[in-house]
Amino acid sequence: ASVIRVASLGKSYQTAAGEFPALRGVDLDIAAGEYVAIMGPSGSGKSTFMNLLGCLDTPSAGDYFLAGENVAQMSKDALAQLRNRTIGFVFQGFNLLPRMSLQDNVALPLVYANVDKETRRARARVLLERVGLGQYAESLPNRISGGQQQRVAIARALVNEPRLILADEPTGNLDSHTSEEIMRLFGELNADGITIVLVTHEPDIAAHASRQVRFLDGHIVSDHLTGEQP
Ligand code: ADP
Ligand code: ADP
Repeated sequence: ASVIRVASLGKSYQTAAGEFPALRGVDLDIAAGEYVAIMGPSGSGKSTFMNLLGCLDTPSAGDYFLAGENVAQMSKDALAQLRNRTIGFVFQGFNLLPRMSLQDNVALPLVYANVDKETRRARARVLLERVGLGQYAESLPNRISGGQQQRVAIARALVNEPRLILADEPTGNLDSHTSEEIMRLFGELNADGITIVLVTHEPDIAAHASRQVRFLDGHIVSDHLTGEQP
């Protein structure tokens, strides 16, 4: 079954110069368990596309089915619930709250899901152990390295047991060795059955995915399995 299906998806932005079409009719189907790298030059529409997939923005045209549900036909509350249950987000800048312990950062999505404090603490601990940072549970984010912060962000993304992870340039702020470690972790999550969609500029990072989709000027210009000729 498709976790993500988009058809004729379009997005235009209002600018001083008029409407700017950032996405122009994108069709894509991503099945459960896939590991997809989204590539393409700056300005090709990758972030716009990821924002639509994450239901952080609404399309100007076309359809989006997330886990089989037509996003456009859902109420705001139902969509927020579907998003929280289904998607874990990972960002280039980690986006941890600086005054909160790592454990509280990881537990934060559970606050919005109305999970009680003891359960939140226990789940956060398990996930920090899972990413190899259990011993730093009570530390603040600035006590650990960038690569470790990204591991914490991944733990946070996992806390609601999502079936999909959306990651926008997750290794963009990391050196190549640390990037490889983060990619190993994504590989393990994918082996556990989590669908991963990841934006990257770097071919070495995209090579970890099993499918590579390339954007140019708001279109998909290639879509192939890793190792196959585009
Ligand atoms: P990418 O992530 O591939 O760099 P983006 O999706 O960020 O591409 O941007 C695609 C195009 O849309 C770019 O030309 C960008 O300047 C434009 N764009 C993105 N967001 C906005 C916005 N909020 N308002 C106007 N134009 C935007
Ligand atoms: P990325 O590095 O992911 O390609 P960008 O630098 O293109 O991101 O955009 C960063 C943020 O600024 C995004 O949220 C995008 O929507 C917004 N943005 C990009 N281009 C424009 C624009 N021309 N006008 C307004 N906002 C924009």
